[in-house]
Amino acid sequence: MDCIFCKIANKEMDALTIGEGDLTITFLDIFPHAKGHAVVIPKTHRETVGDLTKEELAALFSAVQDAVQLLGHALQPDGFTIGINQGKAAGQAVPHLHVHVLPRFERDGGGSVHSVVNAPSEEPLAELREKIVQSKQKKMVG
Ligand code: 5GP
Ligand code: ZN
Repeated sequence: MDCIFCKIANKEMDALTIGEGDLTITFLDIFPHAKGHAVVIPKTHRETVGDLTKEELAALFSAVQDAVQLLGHALQPDGFTIGINQGKAAGQAVPHLHVHVLPRFERDGGGSVHSVVNAPSEEPLAELREKIVQSKQKKMVG
């Protein structure tokens, strides 16, 4: 498969790696949006969170924790933004799941996760919840 992140995971393409485990690899983003902007990926090609096995999921978030600790120690940021763009609508450009780890600094000019989108449903929240819960029950039965 012609996937740049698979190539990085398979060492067919160079990346500035800062961490590696059996199931994950962590490297610096080539177009950083923050000092120390890193991405953590599963070594196996998975497009979305839902595609991961539970073992991969645990390994991925363990690697995110390692990246936060490492970057925190090395760069002494004031905080972190940790996020996934899943699907084209959310801005996913590379269709191999990756968790962005962005060290944040006071007065870096960036926003919070709340600044990503502001398009809430006009439906009352209780109705929305009902719809969500009902769909879950249907799924569990069917
Ligand atoms: P997305 O928009 O899919 O969430 O983010 C993809 C990220 O991968 C971008 O931040 C982009 O800069 C980074 N990226 C794309 N190609 C490469 C590459 O070849 N090497 C590295 N290190 N990062 C890449
Ligand atoms: Zn891939």
